[in-house]
Amino acid sequence: MSDYYEVLGVPRDASAEQVKKAYRKLAMKYHPDVADDPASAERFKEIGEAYAVLSDDKKRQMYDLGGDPMRGGAGGFGPGGFGGFGPGGAQGFDVGGLFDAMFGAQGSRGPRSRVRKGQDALVRLNLTLAEAAFGTTKPIRVDTAVICPTCTGRGAADGSEPVTCTTCHGAGDVQTVQRSFLGDIRTVQPCPVCRGYGTTIPHPCGECSGEGRVRSTRTINVKIPAGVSTGNRVHLDSQGEVGPGGGPAGDLYVELSVSVHDVYKREGDNLEMVAKLPMTAAALGTEVWIDTLEADVEGTAPEDARVKLEIPPGTQSGTRLVIPARGVPRLRGAGRGDLGVTLLVQTPQSLDDSQRELLRKLAEARGETRPEATVSRGASNKGFFGRLKDAFAD
Ligand SMILES: [Zn+2]
Ligand SMILES: [Zn+2]
Repeated sequence: MSDYYEVLGVPRDASAEQVKKAYRKLAMKYHPDVADDPASAERFKEIGEAYAVLSDDKKRQMYDLGGDPMRGGAGGFGPGGFGGFGPGGAQGFDVGGLFDAMFGAQGSRGPRSRVRKGQDALVRLNLTLAEAAFGTTKPIRVDTAVICPTCTGRGAADGSEPVTCTTCHGAGDVQTVQRSFLGDIRTVQPCPVCRGYGTTIPHPCGECSGEGRVRSTRTINVKIPAGVSTGNRVHLDSQGEVGPGGGPAGDLYVELSVSVHDVYKREGDNLEMVAKLPMTAAALGTEVWIDTLEADVEGTAPEDARVKLEIPPGTQSGTRLVIPARGVPRLRGAGRGDLGVTLLVQTPQSLDDSQRELLRKLAEARGETRPEATVSRGASNKGFFGRLKDAFAD
């Protein structure tokens, strides 16, 4: 084995600072990203090993006493005598990691991990207005990647292991030098053989072809809170796609869209509807039953699915009456919006002789046999026309 002090070019009584300085200088010189000499990768590894031992007080002491903490077993120290650094310990030694720790981002090249976080997934879910208003639990089918059940994400077939890539020697990237009249042009690229992983899988798992994940369709029950509307997203932590190499799953977003209802129109937390009313009822006043959105929910008791609405005598067409707290429950905060009922007074269209006679008598009694059309003025017209327009829209 080589002398670690010689490798770093420091005296045996070198201070921690001197060791660090020497390593820094040599590592910069021999780092595979910088040096083009093929022997430098080997040298770089040597430097890293020497530094790992001499920068650690305990290991340096062992080494000074004749042991080799990087290989173990030598100099009277029993095999595996140094916690973690048993025989073969050097195999797991991560030169790149040491370099990264010292130089930060500059040394961030090197093998990339096979294990990466999965992507977020987005699915769309259509709801009825009642489901959106009162909340529900819906099963959705998600077609996404899951951890490969055969290799549990490792990517290697049973009984085999990934091995160090022979092209990049585990570095994850390769350097090419092109000679040109301007000098050498050096480029570092991910290793084409191992695709930058530093390892290859000689016997890939048959089920996932070494990806560590497989596509699968599963069903998830999604809880939809009361009061959601179109465009809201439900966020399900870690229910998205499992990452390459069996990496942690991304999140799942369920984007909601709410169908148009043929009776109720949603305006924020309020529901709006139009009810038709005979002319006589509007004139005399009455009580009517109005179905609420609860009527759409299966199992609602009849008394909870409708409310009585008082129509005052002399109600005009276009009047909006309010049934409090029968709108949509608020998504944030307590309570519900209102149910607005705009009344459309119906003029009778087919009268028999006796009905026509009654109406003529009524007109006479009210002095309305030859009425003048009176012009309606003022801001209230705007609301009236707006509501009428809304009533006939969609
Ligand atoms: Zn597999
Ligand atoms: Zn490689």
